[in-house]
Amino acid sequence: MTTIHRIFNFAAGPAVLPLPVLEQVQRDLVALPGVGMSILEISHRSTTFESILAAAEADIRRLAGIPSSYRVLFLQGGASLQFSMVPMNLLTAGATADYIDSGSWAEKAIKEAKKIGSVNVAATTKDESYSRVPEQAELKLTPDAAYVHMTSNNTIEGTEYKDLPLVGDVPLVSDTSSDMFSRPIDVQRHALIYSGAQKNMGPAGVTVVIIREDLLERSQKSMPTMLNYAVHAENGSLYNTPPAFAVYTLGLVMKWLLAQGGLAGIATVNERKAAKVYAEIDRTGFYRGTAHKDCRSLMNVTFRMGSEDLEKRFIKESTAAGLDGLKGHRAVGGIRASIYNAFPEEGVDALVAFMKDFERSNG
Ligand SMILES: *Cc1c(COP(=O)(O)O)cnc(C)c1O
Repeated sequence: MTTIHRIFNFAAGPAVLPLPVLEQVQRDLVALPGVGMSILEISHRSTTFESILAAAEADIRRLAGIPSSYRVLFLQGGASLQFSMVPMNLLTAGATADYIDSGSWAEKAIKEAKKIGSVNVAATTKDESYSRVPEQAELKLTPDAAYVHMTSNNTIEGTEYKDLPLVGDVPLVSDTSSDMFSRPIDVQRHALIYSGAQKNMGPAGVTVVIIREDLLERSQKSMPTMLNYAVHAENGSLYNTPPAFAVYTLGLVMKWLLAQGGLAGIATVNERKAAKVYAEIDRTGFYRGTAHKDCRSLMNVTFRMGSEDLEKRFIKESTAAGLDGLKGHRAVGGIRASIYNAFPEEGVDALVAFMKDFERSNG
C-alpha cells in the first residue's frame, strides 16, 4: 500500500471531507457490500438506492430534529439555483419578498429574485464591506411579505448570525450553505432552509432543501417541472435521476456527524477551533480580523495584514508549508481560513503555529 499524504485544506468549497468517509467511499466504490455493484452504477429506482436516500433523510432529520411537517428534498443546481427556485415557487403574484443583504451571496440571491418579482431589501451592510450582519433594529420588513430571505453564514466576508432575525409570522428562508450542521439549527423558526452540500455536508452536486409542507401549495403547476418544489416533494426527490454518488457520500457524512455527538457535539469542536485562530488574530495587531467581533464566523475566518505584499508572501509560504487554500475570495482579498466541520483541529494548530512564525520573521 502506498502512503497517502493529505495536506491541510482550508478551501471554502468544495472543501475538506471527513477522512473516514473518504476511506469508506474508496473501500466500497467498486462494489457496495452485499450488492456487488458500484454506487456509480446502480439504478436510482433500485431498493438499494432507495434505502440510501431514505437513510440520508432519516439521519438529516435526526441531526436537526426536523418535524414531520417539513419535507427534505435532494436537488441539483447548487445553492445558486435556489436563488431562482425560492422566488419562482414562493413569491406569489402581487406580493413582495424581503431580503437581508448581508454579503456577496445574499446580493446574488437578491439579483435573481428581482428577475422574478417584487423585492424589498430590508437592510444592507454593503457600505461597510459587509463586515457585520444587519441588526434587528435596522430591518425594514414588509407587512405580509411572501417571505424573508437571509444568509446564515457569509462565506466570503466571514460573518454569521448568532441569533435568527425576528420576522413574526412571515416565512423565514435561509441560505445555510456554509454553516449547515455546524451548530444546532432551530428548524421550526424557518419555513425553508437550503444548502449546497459542498461546504459542510458532502461533495458538490446535491443541494438539500428543507421546506415546510404548507409552502408547497404556492408552487404553480405552470412552472417548469424541474424547478417546482411540489413535484420534487411528491416524487420523494426521485422525479428524475438524482445525483446518486453525492447523496450516498452526504449520507456517510451525516453518519459521521452523528458519531461526533451530532450538532451540539460538532459545535463544541467548531467553537474551540475558531477561538484558537481568532485569539491569534487578536494577539498583537499584526493580523487584523475583518468581521465585527460579535458576528465572527466560526466557519470562515477572514483577516488582513499590513500590506498586500505581505499577504501574498503569507499565502505563498503557507502553501509551501502544506496549508492550502488560505487565499481570500478574489472579491475581497486578504486571507480566509475555512475551517468546516471536517477540518481537523491539528490543522488549526498548524495554522496558528505558522501565523506565529510568520509574524516573528515579518513583524
Ligand atoms: C457557496 C455558496 C453559494 C453558492 O453555492 P453553489 O452550490 O456553488 O451554487 C451560495 N450561498 C452561500 C452562502 C455559499 O457559501
